[in-house]
Amino acid sequence: MYLTVHAASALGIITFSHKPLLSLILGIIMHFLLDLIPHDPLELDQWMKKNYWSRFLTIVFIDFSALFCSLFLLNLFKPLPINWNFLAALIGVALPDVIWGIGKIVELKILEKFKKFHLWVHRLLWPPSDIGWPYALLIQTATFIFFFSLFIAFIKK
Ligand SMILES: [Zn+2]
Repeated sequence: MYLTVHAASALGIITFSHKPLLSLILGIIMHFLLDLIPHDPLELDQWMKKNYWSRFLTIVFIDFSALFCSLFLLNLFKPLPINWNFLAALIGVALPDVIWGIGKIVELKILEKFKKFHLWVHRLLWPPSDIGWPYALLIQTATFIFFFSLFIAFIKK
């Protein structure tokens, strides 16, 4: 899932978890739960087959830019809680993909094992893993709306 969608799940987590350590752990678990849902567009994978590294870095740049822009826009719509609990949840939901990204650059046995596990989760429910982009867009948007609605409904500020 895109980091923006994972970040939205952090907003869902803090609606019921108020301890930073718990939010961090729940964030990591939530990341893998979301990764179980087929969500990666097939077309993106095919596009990345050429000039892999420049396209990979382009995606990373877009993903992080979209994350910061969406947090900024959400904050205008409804002020985000700037506290350790939210930060911990945010780190938890993003951490698995950050480790995965580091594993693409740095060659370490433990990172290889982690990448295998990450891929295994992606393929557990839907072995082809990838889906057509309209479905990917629909699933990611629906997931984002679901978690953002939880936040809107349950966080009073
Ligand atoms: Zn992931």
